[in-house]
Amino acid sequence: MSGTSHEPASRLPVQRASGSDGFDEETDVVIVGSGAAGWTAAITAVTRDAEVLMLEKADAIGGTTRKSGAWFWIPNNRFLREAGIDDRREDALRYMCRLARPELYDADAAAESFGLPREDFALLEAFYDHASAAVDELEQAGALKLFHPAELPDYYAQLPENRTPAGRVLMPLGANGEDPGEGEDFIGQLSSRGAELGVDVRCGHRVCALVLNDADEVVGVVADGPAGKVRVRARRAVVFASGGFAQNPEMRRAFLGGPVFGSCSVPSNTGDFIPMASAVGAPLYGMSYPWLGPVPLERGLRNAPDNWLMFEPAGDSMIMVNRYGRRFVDEKIQYNEITQTMWTWDPSRAEYPNLCPVMIWDQECQDRWQGTMWGNPIAPAGDDDGHVLHGDTLEELAAAVRVRLHELRGETGGYRLDDGFDEALKGSVARFNEHAAAGQDPDFDRGSAPISVFFQAALGEARPGNEASPLIHPLSGSGPYHATILAPATLDTKGGPRTNDKAQVLDASGSPIPGLYGAGNCVASVSGKAYFAGGATIGPAMAFGYLAALSAVAEPVRELTTEAVA
Ligand SMILES: Cc1cc2nc3c(=O)[nH]c(=O)nc-3n(C[C@H](O)[C@H](O)[C@H](O)COP(=O)(O)OP(=O)(O)OC[C@H]3O[C@@H](n4cnc5c(N)ncnc54)[C@H](O)[C@@H]3O)c2cc1C
Repeated sequence: MSGTSHEPASRLPVQRASGSDGFDEETDVVIVGSGAAGWTAAITAVTRDAEVLMLEKADAIGGTTRKSGAWFWIPNNRFLREAGIDDRREDALRYMCRLARPELYDADAAAESFGLPREDFALLEAFYDHASAAVDELEQAGALKLFHPAELPDYYAQLPENRTPAGRVLMPLGANGEDPGEGEDFIGQLSSRGAELGVDVRCGHRVCALVLNDADEVVGVVADGPAGKVRVRARRAVVFASGGFAQNPEMRRAFLGGPVFGSCSVPSNTGDFIPMASAVGAPLYGMSYPWLGPVPLERGLRNAPDNWLMFEPAGDSMIMVNRYGRRFVDEKIQYNEITQTMWTWDPSRAEYPNLCPVMIWDQECQDRWQGTMWGNPIAPAGDDDGHVLHGDTLEELAAAVRVRLHELRGETGGYRLDDGFDEALKGSVARFNEHAAAGQDPDFDRGSAPISVFFQAALGEARPGNEASPLIHPLSGSGPYHATILAPATLDTKGGPRTNDKAQVLDASGSPIPGLYGAGNCVASVSGKAYFAGGATIGPAMAFGYLAALSAVAEPVRELTTEAVA
């Protein structure tokens, strides 16, 4: 890359610094993106007296974080400590290693990173060591008020490796000062305090290139703004916090390990960092596996800005079946996990049998469990229910599903119900009902995970008499029945360049690229296919945004030309 020529250096999204007069603006730290990672980095840097300029591509701040529930998973958080709960480092790391790299995990090798590669383990260590400090600092800076749902379990609370099964999730405090808030509250609190502290925020500025000095250090960025291109010098560092590539169809096709139908990330998360990171020699990792969740097929295809995934299917007299009319999973298992089963490949038939499964429920389930919370597809009367199909009998329902799948065949690779679907469905319902009458599910052990029980209780009360097994109830022997077709989708992606324990972006040799940092969904997550708990995307985004800022403010002021190269 080295050279002394002036911009543009090449067709790559990289330009050369041509001297101080080549910049329109100057600051200590440029932050790219205004979600959880960006705001944590911004507040951390500004409270250390750094000048901070935040560039946001969209017309509004907040990114996907603003749309989110804004739970953040923080092991050993201050509420646990104050309650005398010892969420030990080794225990939390054990749990994360077990889930992130199950194929490498070695229970007896605590001293050797539990069998994980040293660099992966170092990231998990950095997360454990700094996540709580990141949040505590935000709280102390008056930038975040916290709510602690002490009873909220991790997504794998039931694993023996989980020694602190509940209490690691934090939430922003809601506007009334009592209840939990959501993404709006989270971004609102951070941004209003950020403004008081002097964080300069520019919306409508899409960062499109890095600026390098002649020693290949990152010394700024170029952004496309409302008045044209703006070159911003970053005296100390640039921190990317620009979200994933879920809204970039080409990248989705190129990188993801299975088909997805839309995302609930913001439309501006189009993987802009990927070509910039590649242009400065940062290899990409973890590109094949996003944060997954199911979505009603029609909503996924529409991919509207207000798209929501189905975070938890409500209901008791409800099952999901694949194109053969067979159940294939515990319907209540959390969103990231259930969606993995939709990517199951049948090598004999060369097909995804579970790609667009059908969720079926009866009228009593409709009456009891309708709502909109967490993307519940059991739509209340009067709400948009274009994704719900109806039938007086199971055969009529199957016929309606067939018609809808036929209408959408051009967008699903021709996914259709098998000819034996109706018969198999009857068998599936009969078998489910037989065991559900005794409150059991010997096939998939539905309702056995503490998180499923927690989610279900939040969605509604058990029907009278069904308190012992509130997640399971036989479907009625008579209609009407209702259904929605589900499909895999994403919260956002989690692949990108690899970073180290300071959130520095690494080159192919594993060395930091001077001046370049990344946090959140724009860089490779160490979680693999795992989703440790609610908040397991925002928690690490905050921790590594914090770490990025700690190092960025301690960077030397970078020269725009260096004698060595001249
Ligand atoms: C409905 C919903 C609920 C969720 N609930 C939770 C939850 O409770 N807990 C949890 O952990 N996760 C949750 N998630 C996932 C979570 O919201 C995201 O994983 C997380 O917010 C990502 O944070 P981030 O800072 O990496 O990116 P984002 O919050 O997406 O921010 C990235 C920002 O960068 C901007 N940007 C992109 N490209 C550029 C560019 N070239 N120049 C300038 N700016 C750019 C984008 O416009 C965006 O504003 C949820 C997601 C959804 C959709």
